[in-house]
Amino acid sequence: MIAPIDAATREFLDGQHALLIGGEWTAGEGREIVVENPASGAQLATVNAASLGQLDDAVAAARQALRGPWGRTSGRDRGVILARMADLIERDADLLGEVMTLDNGSPLESSKMVVRHLAAELFRYYAGWATKIAGESFQPSLGGGRAGLDFLVATVREPVGVVGAIVPWNAPAGMIALKMAPALAAGCALVLKTAELAPLTGELFGRLWVEAGGPPGAFNLLHGYGEDIGAAMAAHEGIDKIAFTGSTAVGRKIVEAATGNLKRVTLELGGKSPVIVFPDADLDAVIPAAAMACFLSTGQQCMAGSRLFLHADIHDQVAQGVADFAAAMTVGDGMDPATTLGPLISARHKARVLDYTVVARAEGATALLCGEATGPGHFVSPSVFTGVTAGMRIEQEEVFGPVLAVLKFDDEDALISAVNGTPYGLSGSVWTQDITRALRIAKRVDSGQVAINAHAAMSAETPFGGNRQSGWGREFGREGLDSYLKTKAISINLGPKT
Ligand code: NAD
Repeated sequence: MIAPIDAATREFLDGQHALLIGGEWTAGEGREIVVENPASGAQLATVNAASLGQLDDAVAAARQALRGPWGRTSGRDRGVILARMADLIERDADLLGEVMTLDNGSPLESSKMVVRHLAAELFRYYAGWATKIAGESFQPSLGGGRAGLDFLVATVREPVGVVGAIVPWNAPAGMIALKMAPALAAGCALVLKTAELAPLTGELFGRLWVEAGGPPGAFNLLHGYGEDIGAAMAAHEGIDKIAFTGSTAVGRKIVEAATGNLKRVTLELGGKSPVIVFPDADLDAVIPAAAMACFLSTGQQCMAGSRLFLHADIHDQVAQGVADFAAAMTVGDGMDPATTLGPLISARHKARVLDYTVVARAEGATALLCGEATGPGHFVSPSVFTGVTAGMRIEQEEVFGPVLAVLKFDDEDALISAVNGTPYGLSGSVWTQDITRALRIAKRVDSGQVAINAHAAMSAETPFGGNRQSGWGREFGREGLDSYLKTKAISINLGPKT
């Protein structure tokens, strides 16, 4: 049964939606965005996008914050604000979770998990880093290039400046925290654009930032469509870095737009991640895990294990087990506690995902389970295709939906060549009891992260990012912080060597 919407959520949805610019809530002057509940197709709220002038205002406010109090804030004080954010996110986890579920369709329990275990934890983790940003000192061998002189070099780590953050709709609370927490810990000022398909959760982060005592202009929140506000951010001369999470196609456009002022760019992009299972794996654990690696968030997650590589000896058993698990999933509204598979984000995306089931069959794959559409929400049940071979579109392209491609292998070299044969290199997992084989395969998989006997084992400390067309740079952990810092070397002439 669909749970009733909580009063606090209702009040937020029915209230005025706005942009946070320079510490002031301001009505958007750009195009209207009609926000839809993907579980029903009904209108949830309307939000006004920022105008290009308001983007300029937000960038100016961020620049001003860097020149003003925010730029002088100590690491200790930045850490205190970020730790407060973590507490406030936990306090409001029910509200944030509900808004996220209504905004993007994910099952309520999983939305709350993202809020508590990803968003709050990221703020808590990076709060600690704010006091630990340090350079190094050393004596250069060549005395600053001058014979006979002694030099001491001290490096200092400085914030890269104004950061433009652009996020997708698939897990807004997590994606927003992943931009805000390290950028603000580093001392940068941020202009963040929400995703037009799920903009509401971001607004709650703006409110919490104000409540946490975040100084005006250090964090600015804009709504807007990608092709106008997003593109303008990527090209903006006043922005020093773009931190982007989204599709590989848009990532490419961002890189091109960023060439004007040669701003820094980090990219977290798409994936087609492998789940590799050997016959000695614990198959009772593998079957539900392999199914959820693909079907979690209705397949709308970048690290989805959308290619299942099964050794020939256990292929039929595991493929059937995964199909049975998938067939038993409960498709429905994320506000119903019984739901394990929520809707897709939009009618357009639903049509795209269904099209891949047609493509898979046309390419000769066999549907052990074929996804079916129901409505009026954007529901598509899971698909499991066997007989998939390397090079088929269903094996190469990111579907971003509940469609699993199963491939059979017996030779390790052929396996690795297929595993690494897509343009992507984001995530992956290896399932076996043989640790030597697990480590050998993990080393040979060309991706940013590989888990052994688990899939997508994420934590605030663990670096995450993509190889090849899955991205540039890493988020999470110390590397996530480093990408918001630049190094200055100060060379001190100590005089003649003694
Ligand atoms: P998308 O690329 O369509 O949109 C992402 C964001 O980019 C949105 O805010 C959108 O408004 C903006 N955008 C669109 N066009 C733009 C342009 N020309 N210039 C600047 N910004 C623009 O992606 P999506 O459909 O929202 O999200 C799904 C994609 O995100 C998938 O490919 C998925 O794999 C990827 N993703 C990656 C990660 C990761 O960590 N690697 C995490 C989540 C999602």
